[in-house]
Amino acid sequence: MSDLKVYRMVDVNKLVRDSVKKLTPYSCARDEFTGKTGIFMDANENPYGNLNRYPDPYQSQLKKAISKVKEIKEEDIFLGNGSDEIIDLCLRVFCNPGVDKALTFTPTYGMYEVSASVNDIEVIKVPLNDSFQIDLKKAEASFSDKNLKLIFICSPNNPTANSMNFKDVEYIITKFNGIVVIDEAYIDFSEKPSFVNLVNKYPNLIILQTFSKAFGLAAVRVGMAFSNPLIVHYLNKLKPPYNISTINQKAVLGKLDKMEEYKNQVFKIKEERERLSANLSKMKIAERVYPSDANFLLVKVKNASYIYNALVNRNIIIRNRSSLFDNCLRITIGKKSENNKLVNALKSISI
Ligand code: PMP
Repeated sequence: MSDLKVYRMVDVNKLVRDSVKKLTPYSCARDEFTGKTGIFMDANENPYGNLNRYPDPYQSQLKKAISKVKEIKEEDIFLGNGSDEIIDLCLRVFCNPGVDKALTFTPTYGMYEVSASVNDIEVIKVPLNDSFQIDLKKAEASFSDKNLKLIFICSPNNPTANSMNFKDVEYIITKFNGIVVIDEAYIDFSEKPSFVNLVNKYPNLIILQTFSKAFGLAAVRVGMAFSNPLIVHYLNKLKPPYNISTINQKAVLGKLDKMEEYKNQVFKIKEERERLSANLSKMKIAERVYPSDANFLLVKVKNASYIYNALVNRNIIIRNRSSLFDNCLRITIGKKSENNKLVNALKSISI
């Protein structure tokens, strides 16, 4: 299967919607003058206050800091109001509403389908196999569909918690004549390598990461896309002019200055993941605790709804994912004390 010699160069410009290519983006005052000092009478702002000025629309200081930490060129970075905004923008750059399609490997993160539906884009759902891996044959069957423009791959996948096989993903990137978006929201918790280095190799690849998980900034809403300057250009064309507030840019900059704190938290969460997994595995209530490369565990139980409600009654909120995967609960790793409370609560539930 994985013969990479069949690789063809994808012409990204040909995949972009005509309306997007033709679009003249909104030009904001700060596009025209990018200097920092002066008397600013260009953007109809209030001259008084601390937060009276519009933010940098292209977040250059923040991209510089991300570039250093992630070792990715600034021009290969796009920032969105959470990766959710970037998922929506990817669909809007490449898919004509009512005509084009996107493909997902299910069960997976729900926003790919929701965003596609909002944009009137049909979703082809290819089920993951019994090991929660991509079924290449089933995936490839859709590659000849000329309206299929975008494939979303979530790795580590939400809610199955596993990473996709590296070779399978690279095979898809090389064989599919459209855009591949790899969502690495949980990559910081994984021992498996990121796909990020492949963006220099393949023009049709977009990697998504986020500050919402390992960096502990879910409230701040900043997501990252790593790709090439052409795709970054089209994402910039469609984004709202000031999509990341000054306060939020500063919050991320502050966090990037504290990489030790980030590393310690990721270490603790991974340690707790293994401890909680071992504890749950010993309990009768859990039929199976799946291995996890993320900051959550997928647990198969006999009666998910019953356990979910019993935990809610004890003030512990987890996620019942039974609609995606029969009788499965998704448990986000908490602090040690919280994980202990969960285990004790589960012990007190009789099934
Ligand atoms: N991708 C995946 C796989 C997720 O699980 C989530 C949030 N749960 C997101 C993206 C959204 O991330 P953000 O907060 O950056 O919008």
